[in-house]
Amino acid sequence: MLYSYIIKHDNGVAPNPFWGICTLVICKPTIRRSAQVGDWIVATGSKNSPIGDISGKAVYIMKITKKMTMKEYDAYTKEYLPQKIPFFKSKDLRHIVGDSIYDFSYNPPELRESVHNEKNKKRDLSGKYALLSDYFFYFGNKPIELPDHLKNLLCKTQGHKSKSNTILFNPFLDWVSSLNLKRNKLYGKPLGMFFKNANIKDLGINKRCMKKTLNKISNKICYLCGKKLGGEIDNDHVPPKQFYAKLIKDNVNLKLFKLPTHKSCNKSFQHDEDYFVHSLAPVAMHTQTGKAKWFDIVNQSKRPESKKIIEKVYFAY
Ligand SMILES: [Zn+2]
Repeated sequence: MLYSYIIKHDNGVAPNPFWGICTLVICKPTIRRSAQVGDWIVATGSKNSPIGDISGKAVYIMKITKKMTMKEYDAYTKEYLPQKIPFFKSKDLRHIVGDSIYDFSYNPPELRESVHNEKNKKRDLSGKYALLSDYFFYFGNKPIELPDHLKNLLCKTQGHKSKSNTILFNPFLDWVSSLNLKRNKLYGKPLGMFFKNANIKDLGINKRCMKKTLNKISNKICYLCGKKLGGEIDNDHVPPKQFYAKLIKDNVNLKLFKLPTHKSCNKSFQHDEDYFVHSLAPVAMHTQTGKAKWFDIVNQSKRPESKKIIEKVYFAY
């Protein structure tokens, strides 16, 4: 099967052609649900692209070589492809446009800081699957014209065509192989604004774009010390995760807020948190949650650090 669609925003996220594997994980839910390993996707440019009318020109071509659920993709990227997990503080643009934007260690999955926001979530997740390819050609801002006999592949809208492409499947494959292109190569860079000033050779080092992104981050403040965020940053659970006993955590779907802090601040408050929990748990023993926490404390009391705190609290009262 051959899928074709018009790509409106080619910003390096959908598809994400970086790190040797082209991935389609967000947007295009219908294609992600139905396309199978062995199918091909071709996306052509739009009339109003940032570089003018590129309708009828291929922006990328990929053969699907792996299909997995978005949840599996999250686990896969954590283990093998961490570069696909968006990292907004990176100096490398390719990190910013990571497409593994849903963290499935939460239920429902949580949106990572990325180019998408909560508004995109429902549609993204409705695609259910991630499509991967180590057999692709990416042209970006250097799109290539489809030959006349394949022009029927084009659709007029952003939607996709599949069934009607059946007779064009073999001619399409013939054309692709006649191009004599190198597989898994970026022949151009994404059209989106992120990559406007980027150099194809060292895709990623775009200081002006980076400054913008960094400003977005540095305008935030650390909730612990009230100063501007910078340097190493942690995401701290509020209220602290350790207020909840293991038994409670196992049985309740805890959804705690996360707030950014300086790594150093987070660390420096750790002892206060420990002291607080160890002092108050015994007083809260008449409640179910207090009892559960006390159970944890007793269980951990043999650890040297726990021992120290218990002694400290004991002598203080
Ligand atoms: Zn701080």
